[in-house]
Amino acid sequence: MQPSRFLFRAFEMLTFMNMPIRQKFTLFALGVSLWFVVIGALGAFAEGTIGRSALLGAELIAHALLILFAISITRSLTGPIDGIIQQIRVLTKGNLDHMAHIQVASGDEVGEMSTRFNHLLDSLQDVATFRKVIESDDSSLDVYSRLGQTFDRLGLPKHRVYAADRRAKGLEVVFDSSGGEGWCSAEILADAALCRAHRTGTAVASFSFPGVCRQFCGRGSEHVCVPLMLGGAAAGAVQFVFDPAEATNGEQARARVELAERYVKEALPVLETRRLTETLREQSLRDPLTGLYNRRYVAECQGTISALAQRRGTSVGVLLCDIDHFKSVNDVYGHDAGDLVLKTVAQSLLLQLRRSDVLARFGGEEFLAILPDATVESIGIAAERLRRAVAECKIVVDGGELRKTISVGVAVFPADAESFGQCVKLADAALYRAKESGRDRVVAHVREPATTTGPAA
Ligand code: GH3
Ligand code: MG
Ligand code: MG
Repeated sequence: MQPSRFLFRAFEMLTFMNMPIRQKFTLFALGVSLWFVVIGALGAFAEGTIGRSALLGAELIAHALLILFAISITRSLTGPIDGIIQQIRVLTKGNLDHMAHIQVASGDEVGEMSTRFNHLLDSLQDVATFRKVIESDDSSLDVYSRLGQTFDRLGLPKHRVYAADRRAKGLEVVFDSSGGEGWCSAEILADAALCRAHRTGTAVASFSFPGVCRQFCGRGSEHVCVPLMLGGAAAGAVQFVFDPAEATNGEQARARVELAERYVKEALPVLETRRLTETLREQSLRDPLTGLYNRRYVAECQGTISALAQRRGTSVGVLLCDIDHFKSVNDVYGHDAGDLVLKTVAQSLLLQLRRSDVLARFGGEEFLAILPDATVESIGIAAERLRRAVAECKIVVDGGELRKTISVGVAVFPADAESFGQCVKLADAALYRAKESGRDRVVAHVREPATTTGPAA
């Protein structure tokens, strides 16, 4: 042992620094009593042998030691307690940035209290920092992924975050550490009510109730699922999974989950705000009747689509589709039937397109399909496919069964025009020619003469 360490250990022992407070007091009380017994005995039995002044000196030493101990114990107790009171004052003002660690001077109860208080400060500061960081995150997906990183840090490497998909009434995996495999049956993705934590709005733990959720398929593993409550309703769930080895120490696992829940609670208000913003934004870009994107969305995305096409050297198909003689549906069958025709045509068009394509309701009974990364030939084929799909569609309305046709005007970016907006105008001109030449047909923009395909061509 190094001399400095040896001296420190000796000092620790002499000052009883690491001895529990109760033992310190007991030892001291015993020492003082013993001292007075010795002095009393000396006074009674050795009077004459020891002078009065020597006895007085011994008594003075005993008193001095008592005072010294009282001062030292008071200082060792009041120092950290004053520190904690000061930090609590800062804490009640809500200013976590100005909080500082308390110095741990002893290994007794006060030392332990200071150490635990410092841990509490660390975790409060960490949660506050987490909140600040997620508040400046752009989307709810960013917030979910930051939650995932935090779970990793807390020693919960197996987790999955599910968010309710309000349109589909199922759950969507928004963050996943399993690499896509997951631990629950895929049915919960289609029906959110099958997820017990989401349905009941309470935490579900297999530690307490083995086999509590029938959707959990992780054999031999344990799970804790915590619901994500937004605006009083469940908006998904966070799942933590534990290996059989970890599961043997349920207490430790539960403590980690409790800590993780603190971060989830911090994230919830932020997620709620992001969800509202995203819903409002989504609504402003969607047509409420058909659920398709609207003209504003086209205006927003056309810059990105054309820039991507130019960078990759690919073509974008611009297909303007208009329902033929649509007004007569309203006139003969009423507006509700007209609305149904619009919805049905929108769905049959959507079914013919790739996921990467964009379909927007561009006007009353006019739809714009944007086909990125396409060849001129495939654009023509797709346009003809759209026309045929609508023509083959039977629409049952009050008072009969309808069949409607569409006319399609086609232009290709950048082959036909330098700007995307110009391309839409060319597709509109081609559509006009399709209407003029008899409807139910596809007309592509060509500099002269226009080509036509379809049954009436
Ligand atoms: P064309 O073959 O030349 O395209 O004739 P059309 O009748 O389809 O076209 P027109 O422009 O004359 O009529 C379009 C009609 O679409 C007029 C409008 O009342 C109707 N419309 C527009 N939006 C809606 C809607 O949301 N619901 C219903 N039911 N009708 C709508
Ligand atoms: Mg029309
Ligand atoms: Mg029209």
